Amino acid sequence: MPVTLIPGDGIGPEVVNAAVEAIEAAGVKLQWERAAAGAGAMATHGTPIPAETIDAIRRNKLALKGPLATPVGEGYRSANVALRKEFDLYANVRPARSFAGVDTRYTGIDLVVVRENTQGLYSGVEHYIDEERSAAESISIITRKGSERIIEYAFNFARTHHRRLVTLVHKANILKCTSGLFLDTGRALAAKHTDIEFKEMIVDTCAMQLVKNPNQFDIIVTTNLFGDILSDLTSGLIGGLGLTAGANIGKDIAIFEAVHGTAPDIAGRGVANPTAVMLAGSMLLEHIGERTASDRLVTAVREAIASKEAVTPDLGGSATTRMFTQAVLKRLR
Ligand code: NAD
Repeated sequence: MPVTLIPGDGIGPEVVNAAVEAIEAAGVKLQWERAAAGAGAMATHGTPIPAETIDAIRRNKLALKGPLATPVGEGYRSANVALRKEFDLYANVRPARSFAGVDTRYTGIDLVVVRENTQGLYSGVEHYIDEERSAAESISIITRKGSERIIEYAFNFARTHHRRLVTLVHKANILKCTSGLFLDTGRALAAKHTDIEFKEMIVDTCAMQLVKNPNQFDIIVTTNLFGDILSDLTSGLIGGLGLTAGANIGKDIAIFEAVHGTAPDIAGRGVANPTAVMLAGSMLLEHIGERTASDRLVTAVREAIASKEAVTPDLGGSATTRMFTQAVLKRLR
Protein backbone atom coordinates (compact mmCIF):
# COMPACT_ATOMS: atom_id res chain seq x y z
CA MET A 1 0.00 0.00 0.00
CA PRO A 2 1.46 3.41 -0.94
CA VAL A 3 1.88 5.98 1.85
CA THR A 4 3.16 9.54 1.43
CA LEU A 5 6.07 10.11 3.80
CA ILE A 6 6.91 13.70 4.73
CA PRO A 7 10.11 13.79 6.82
CA GLY A 8 9.57 17.49 7.68
CA ASP A 9 11.92 19.96 9.38
CA GLY A 10 14.21 19.97 12.42
CA ILE A 11 14.14 16.60 14.20
CA GLY A 12 11.53 15.39 11.66
CA PRO A 13 13.81 13.29 9.43
CA GLU A 14 15.51 11.70 12.49
CA VAL A 15 12.28 10.57 14.14
CA VAL A 16 10.36 9.76 10.94
CA ASN A 17 13.10 7.44 9.66
CA ALA A 18 13.13 5.67 13.03
CA ALA A 19 9.34 5.26 12.83
CA VAL A 20 9.50 3.79 9.32
CA GLU A 21 11.94 1.12 10.56
CA ALA A 22 9.66 0.28 13.47
CA ILE A 23 6.52 0.09 11.30
CA GLU A 24 8.26 -2.29 8.89
CA ALA A 25 9.56 -4.40 11.77
CA ALA A 26 5.97 -4.66 13.04
CA GLY A 27 5.34 -6.67 9.90
CA VAL A 28 3.61 -4.42 7.40
CA LYS A 29 5.27 -3.61 4.12
CA LEU A 30 4.22 -0.18 2.89
CA GLN A 31 5.47 1.66 -0.18
CA TRP A 32 6.83 4.92 1.17
CA GLU A 33 6.66 7.81 -1.27
CA ARG A 34 8.80 10.63 0.08
CA ALA A 35 7.51 14.19 -0.34
CA ALA A 36 8.68 17.63 0.78
CA ALA A 37 6.84 20.14 2.97
CA GLY A 38 7.64 22.92 5.47
CA ALA A 39 10.68 25.19 5.66
CA GLY A 40 12.79 22.66 3.75
CA ALA A 41 10.33 22.73 0.86
CA MET A 42 10.26 26.53 1.01
CA ALA A 43 13.99 26.47 0.31
CA THR A 44 13.88 23.86 -2.46
CA HIS A 45 10.48 24.50 -4.07
CA GLY A 46 9.70 28.11 -3.07
CA THR A 47 6.53 26.99 -1.26
CA PRO A 48 5.94 25.17 2.04
CA ILE A 49 3.54 22.74 0.33
CA PRO A 50 4.65 21.86 -3.22
CA ALA A 51 1.92 20.81 -5.67
CA GLU A 52 3.50 17.33 -6.02
CA THR A 53 3.15 16.81 -2.26
CA ILE A 54 -0.55 17.70 -2.43
CA ASP A 55 -0.96 15.37 -5.42
CA ALA A 56 0.81 12.51 -3.64
CA ILE A 57 -1.39 12.81 -0.54
CA ARG A 58 -4.53 13.03 -2.66
CA ARG A 59 -3.49 9.95 -4.64
CA ASN A 60 -2.36 7.80 -1.71
CA LYS A 61 -5.00 9.06 0.77
CA LEU A 62 -2.56 8.31 3.58
CA ALA A 63 0.46 10.18 4.92
CA LEU A 64 2.91 9.94 7.80
CA LYS A 65 4.32 13.35 8.51
CA GLY A 66 7.16 14.85 10.54
CA PRO A 67 6.82 18.29 12.11
CA LEU A 68 6.93 21.38 9.87
CA ALA A 69 8.44 24.71 10.95
CA THR A 70 6.14 27.73 10.89
CA PRO A 71 7.38 31.33 11.20
CA VAL A 72 5.89 33.04 14.29
CA GLY A 73 3.88 36.26 13.88
CA GLU A 74 4.87 36.76 10.22
CA GLY A 75 5.77 34.92 6.99
CA TYR A 76 3.89 32.10 5.29
CA ARG A 77 0.81 30.51 6.87
CA SER A 78 1.23 27.24 8.75
CA ALA A 79 1.69 24.37 6.30
CA ASN A 80 0.03 22.09 8.87
CA VAL A 81 -3.09 24.22 9.02
CA ALA A 82 -3.07 24.48 5.21
CA LEU A 83 -2.85 20.67 4.79
CA ARG A 84 -5.71 20.13 7.22
CA LYS A 85 -7.82 22.63 5.29
CA GLU A 86 -6.80 21.37 1.84
CA PHE A 87 -7.97 17.83 2.62
CA ASP A 88 -10.70 18.83 5.07
CA LEU A 89 -9.11 16.75 7.84
CA TYR A 90 -11.73 17.73 10.35
CA ALA A 91 -10.90 15.39 13.21
CA ASN A 92 -7.65 15.64 15.14
CA VAL A 93 -7.40 12.65 17.45
CA ARG A 94 -4.77 12.87 20.18
CA PRO A 95 -4.65 10.01 22.70
CA ALA A 96 -2.80 10.42 26.01
CA ARG A 97 -2.06 7.21 27.92
CA SER A 98 0.35 6.91 30.86
CA PHE A 99 3.59 5.00 30.26
CA ALA A 100 5.11 2.58 32.73
CA GLY A 101 8.64 3.80 33.45
CA VAL A 102 7.92 7.48 32.84
CA ASP A 103 7.87 9.47 36.05
CA THR A 104 4.78 11.67 36.14
CA ARG A 105 2.46 13.05 38.81
CA TYR A 106 -0.41 10.72 37.82
CA THR A 107 -0.65 7.12 36.68
CA GLY A 108 -3.44 5.38 34.82
CA ILE A 109 -4.31 8.27 32.50
CA ASP A 110 -6.07 6.99 29.39
CA LEU A 111 -7.92 9.72 27.55
CA VAL A 112 -8.33 11.00 24.00
CA VAL A 113 -8.68 14.59 22.90
CA VAL A 114 -10.84 14.87 19.76
CA ARG A 115 -10.20 18.35 18.41
CA GLU A 116 -12.13 20.05 15.62
CA ASN A 117 -9.38 20.73 13.11
CA THR A 118 -10.67 23.13 10.46
CA GLN A 119 -12.76 25.87 12.05
CA GLY A 120 -12.81 28.26 15.01
CA LEU A 121 -9.98 30.74 15.39
CA TYR A 122 -7.86 28.76 12.91
CA SER A 123 -10.04 29.83 10.00
CA GLY A 124 -7.24 32.19 8.93
CA VAL A 125 -9.60 35.16 8.68
CA GLU A 126 -7.62 37.84 10.49
CA HIS A 127 -6.11 41.23 9.81
CA TYR A 128 -4.70 44.42 11.30
CA ILE A 129 -7.22 47.24 11.11
CA ASP A 130 -4.67 49.82 9.91
CA GLU A 131 -1.10 50.20 8.75
CA GLU A 132 0.07 51.22 12.24
CA ARG A 133 -1.18 47.86 13.48
CA SER A 134 -3.02 49.61 16.28
CA ALA A 135 -5.53 46.75 16.52
CA ALA A 136 -6.13 43.33 14.99
CA GLU A 137 -9.17 41.15 14.43
CA SER A 138 -9.54 37.38 14.11
CA ILE A 139 -12.81 35.80 13.12
CA SER A 140 -13.80 32.49 14.70
CA ILE A 141 -16.03 30.47 12.40
CA ILE A 142 -18.15 27.66 13.81
CA THR A 143 -20.83 25.96 11.73
CA ARG A 144 -23.54 23.57 12.86
CA LYS A 145 -22.46 21.07 10.21
CA GLY A 146 -18.80 21.31 11.26
CA SER A 147 -19.78 20.86 14.91
CA GLU A 148 -22.07 17.92 14.12
CA ARG A 149 -19.45 15.92 12.25
CA ILE A 150 -16.73 16.30 14.90
CA ILE A 151 -19.07 15.54 17.81
CA GLU A 152 -20.52 12.56 15.89
CA TYR A 153 -16.95 11.43 15.29
CA ALA A 154 -16.27 11.61 19.04
CA PHE A 155 -19.36 9.52 19.91
CA ASN A 156 -18.57 6.94 17.22
CA PHE A 157 -14.92 6.80 18.32
CA ALA A 158 -16.09 6.22 21.89
CA ARG A 159 -18.32 3.35 20.76
CA THR A 160 -15.76 1.62 18.52
CA HIS A 161 -13.03 1.95 21.16
CA HIS A 162 -15.22 0.70 24.01
CA ARG A 163 -15.17 3.97 25.89
CA ARG A 164 -17.89 5.26 28.20
CA LEU A 165 -17.85 9.06 28.44
CA VAL A 166 -17.68 12.04 26.08
CA THR A 167 -16.95 15.42 27.69
CA LEU A 168 -17.70 18.40 25.47
CA VAL A 169 -15.46 21.36 26.34
CA HIS A 170 -16.64 24.90 25.50
CA LYS A 171 -16.69 28.55 26.57
CA ALA A 172 -20.34 29.23 25.85
CA ASN A 173 -20.70 31.44 28.93
CA ILE A 174 -18.62 34.11 27.15
CA LEU A 175 -18.56 33.09 23.45
CA LYS A 176 -22.32 32.74 23.35
CA CYS A 177 -22.64 32.35 19.57
CA THR A 178 -19.59 30.32 18.46
CA SER A 179 -19.06 28.16 21.53
CA GLY A 180 -22.82 28.27 22.16
CA LEU A 181 -23.52 26.69 18.76
CA PHE A 182 -20.95 23.97 19.40
CA LEU A 183 -22.48 23.19 22.81
CA ASP A 184 -26.01 23.27 21.47
CA THR A 185 -25.09 20.81 18.72
CA GLY A 186 -23.43 18.53 21.27
CA ARG A 187 -26.50 18.48 23.51
CA ALA A 188 -28.72 17.54 20.55
CA LEU A 189 -26.39 14.70 19.49
CA ALA A 190 -26.00 13.44 23.06
CA ALA A 191 -29.75 12.84 23.12
CA LYS A 192 -29.27 10.40 20.21
CA HIS A 193 -26.22 8.60 21.65
CA THR A 194 -27.71 7.51 24.93
CA ASP A 195 -25.36 4.50 25.24
CA ILE A 196 -22.44 6.90 25.86
CA GLU A 197 -22.41 9.16 28.91
CA PHE A 198 -22.22 12.88 28.03
CA LYS A 199 -20.86 15.76 30.11
CA GLU A 200 -20.18 19.38 29.30
CA MET A 201 -17.47 21.50 30.87
CA ILE A 202 -16.21 25.07 30.49
CA VAL A 203 -12.65 25.12 29.16
CA ASP A 204 -11.05 26.87 32.15
CA THR A 205 -12.66 24.39 34.54
CA CYS A 206 -11.48 21.59 32.26
CA ALA A 207 -7.87 22.84 32.41
CA MET A 208 -8.04 22.86 36.21
CA GLN A 209 -9.78 19.47 36.42
CA LEU A 210 -7.22 17.91 34.05
CA VAL A 211 -4.43 19.00 36.36
CA LYS A 212 -6.30 17.99 39.55
CA ASN A 213 -7.87 14.70 38.49
CA PRO A 214 -7.13 13.66 34.89
CA ASN A 215 -8.46 10.13 35.44
CA GLN A 216 -12.06 11.42 35.41
CA PHE A 217 -11.76 12.04 31.63
CA ASP A 218 -12.26 9.58 28.79
CA ILE A 219 -12.98 11.35 25.47
CA ILE A 220 -12.78 15.16 25.31
CA VAL A 221 -14.35 16.77 22.25
CA THR A 222 -13.76 20.45 21.67
CA THR A 223 -13.14 23.27 19.21
CA ASN A 224 -9.85 23.93 17.45
CA LEU A 225 -7.93 26.28 19.75
CA PHE A 226 -9.09 24.67 23.01
CA GLY A 227 -8.19 21.24 21.60
CA ASP A 228 -4.75 22.43 20.56
CA ILE A 229 -3.99 23.78 24.04
CA LEU A 230 -5.63 20.99 26.07
CA SER A 231 -3.90 18.26 24.05
CA ASP A 232 -0.48 19.76 24.83
CA LEU A 233 -1.58 19.81 28.48
CA THR A 234 -2.56 16.13 28.33
CA SER A 235 0.77 15.34 26.62
CA GLY A 236 2.51 16.99 29.55
CA LEU A 237 0.50 14.88 32.00
CA ILE A 238 1.83 11.64 30.52
CA GLY A 239 5.46 12.75 30.17
CA GLY A 240 5.82 15.27 27.37
CA LEU A 241 5.52 16.02 23.71
CA GLY A 242 8.00 13.36 22.66
CA LEU A 243 5.39 10.72 23.57
CA THR A 244 2.16 11.93 21.98
CA ALA A 245 0.83 11.08 18.53
CA GLY A 246 -2.05 12.50 16.57
CA ALA A 247 -4.20 11.59 13.60
CA ASN A 248 -5.79 14.12 11.25
CA ILE A 249 -8.81 12.39 9.77
CA GLY A 250 -11.00 13.47 6.88
CA LYS A 251 -13.70 11.75 4.87
CA ASP A 252 -11.24 9.63 2.89
CA ILE A 253 -7.77 11.07 3.57
CA ALA A 254 -5.78 10.79 6.81
CA ILE A 255 -2.45 12.27 7.90
CA PHE A 256 -0.67 10.86 10.94
CA GLU A 257 1.93 12.83 12.89
CA ALA A 258 3.52 13.56 16.25
CA VAL A 259 1.96 16.32 18.32
CA HIS A 260 5.39 17.91 18.86
CA GLY A 261 7.13 20.43 16.62
CA THR A 262 10.56 20.56 15.01
CA ALA A 263 12.41 20.88 18.35
CA PRO A 264 15.06 23.27 16.98
CA ASP A 265 16.95 23.13 20.31
CA ILE A 266 17.90 19.46 19.76
CA ALA A 267 17.64 19.08 15.96
CA GLY A 268 20.55 17.31 14.30
CA ARG A 269 21.94 15.95 17.58
CA GLY A 270 20.42 12.50 17.20
CA VAL A 271 18.78 12.55 20.65
CA ALA A 272 15.13 13.19 19.77
CA ASN A 273 12.56 10.75 21.11
CA PRO A 274 10.92 8.96 18.13
CA THR A 275 8.09 7.53 20.28
CA ALA A 276 5.45 10.03 19.14
CA VAL A 277 5.98 9.35 15.42
CA MET A 278 6.19 5.60 16.07
CA LEU A 279 2.81 5.80 17.83
CA ALA A 280 1.49 7.90 14.94
CA GLY A 281 2.62 4.97 12.78
CA SER A 282 0.62 2.59 14.98
CA MET A 283 -2.46 4.78 14.51
CA LEU A 284 -1.88 4.62 10.74
CA LEU A 285 -1.66 0.82 10.92
CA GLU A 286 -4.91 0.64 12.90
CA HIS A 287 -6.54 2.98 10.37
CA ILE A 288 -5.69 0.63 7.47
CA GLY A 289 -6.96 -2.41 9.34
CA GLU A 290 -3.56 -3.76 10.44
CA ARG A 291 -4.69 -4.08 14.05
CA THR A 292 -2.26 -6.83 15.05
CA ALA A 293 0.80 -4.97 13.74
CA SER A 294 -0.45 -1.78 15.34
CA ASP A 295 -0.79 -3.46 18.75
CA ARG A 296 2.65 -5.11 18.38
CA LEU A 297 4.25 -1.75 17.66
CA VAL A 298 2.58 -0.05 20.63
CA THR A 299 3.60 -2.89 22.93
CA ALA A 300 7.23 -2.81 21.70
CA VAL A 301 7.48 0.96 22.22
CA ARG A 302 5.87 0.78 25.67
CA GLU A 303 8.08 -2.11 26.77
CA ALA A 304 11.22 -0.38 25.49
CA ILE A 305 10.33 2.71 27.54
CA ALA A 306 9.35 0.71 30.63
CA SER A 307 12.63 -1.26 30.55
CA LYS A 308 14.59 2.03 30.79
CA GLU A 309 17.44 0.31 28.95
CA ALA A 310 17.77 3.05 26.34
CA VAL A 311 15.58 6.09 26.91
CA THR A 312 16.26 9.51 25.40
CA PRO A 313 17.19 12.65 27.43
CA ASP A 314 13.61 14.04 27.47
CA LEU A 315 12.69 11.00 29.60
CA GLY A 316 15.74 11.38 31.86
CA GLY A 317 17.97 8.92 29.97
CA SER A 318 21.09 9.40 27.88
CA ALA A 319 20.30 7.20 24.88
CA THR A 320 20.33 8.42 21.30
CA THR A 321 17.40 8.14 18.91
CA ARG A 322 19.23 5.20 17.32
CA MET A 323 19.74 3.35 20.62
CA PHE A 324 16.08 3.72 21.57
CA THR A 325 15.02 2.62 18.09
CA GLN A 326 17.17 -0.52 18.43
CA ALA A 327 15.48 -1.27 21.76
CA VAL A 328 12.10 -1.10 20.00
CA LEU A 329 13.23 -3.10 16.95
CA LYS A 330 14.60 -5.99 18.99
CA ARG A 331 11.18 -6.41 20.60
CA LEU A 332 9.59 -6.70 17.16
CA ARG A 333 11.91 -9.33 15.69
P1 NAD B 1 8.45 21.79 19.87
O1 NAD B 1 7.45 20.71 20.08
O2 NAD B 1 9.26 21.73 18.64
O3 NAD B 1 9.47 21.78 21.12
C1 NAD B 1 9.05 22.03 22.47
C2 NAD B 1 10.03 21.35 23.44
O4 NAD B 1 9.80 19.93 23.39
C3 NAD B 1 11.49 21.55 23.05
O5 NAD B 1 12.25 21.69 24.23
C4 NAD B 1 11.85 20.26 22.33
O6 NAD B 1 13.21 19.91 22.42
C5 NAD B 1 10.98 19.24 23.04
N1 NAD B 1 10.61 18.13 22.14
C6 NAD B 1 9.69 18.16 21.15
N2 NAD B 1 9.64 16.99 20.51
C7 NAD B 1 10.57 16.19 21.10
C8 NAD B 1 11.00 14.84 20.87
N3 NAD B 1 10.48 14.07 19.91
N4 NAD B 1 12.00 14.35 21.64
C9 NAD B 1 12.53 15.10 22.62
N5 NAD B 1 12.16 16.38 22.90
C10 NAD B 1 11.18 16.92 22.13
O7 NAD B 1 7.68 23.19 19.97
P2 NAD B 1 8.15 24.65 19.56
O8 NAD B 1 9.59 24.85 19.96
O9 NAD B 1 7.11 25.54 20.11
O10 NAD B 1 8.04 24.69 17.97
C11 NAD B 1 9.15 24.57 17.08
C12 NAD B 1 8.65 24.62 15.64
O11 NAD B 1 7.80 23.51 15.37
C13 NAD B 1 7.83 25.88 15.30
O12 NAD B 1 8.20 26.30 13.99
C14 NAD B 1 6.41 25.37 15.30
O13 NAD B 1 5.56 26.12 14.45
C15 NAD B 1 6.58 23.96 14.78
N6 NAD B 1 5.49 23.02 15.17
C16 NAD B 1 5.09 22.15 14.23
C17 NAD B 1 4.13 21.20 14.56
C18 NAD B 1 3.70 20.21 13.50
O14 NAD B 1 4.28 20.18 12.43
N7 NAD B 1 2.67 19.40 13.75
C19 NAD B 1 3.59 21.14 15.85
C20 NAD B 1 4.05 22.06 16.80
C21 NAD B 1 5.02 23.00 16.45
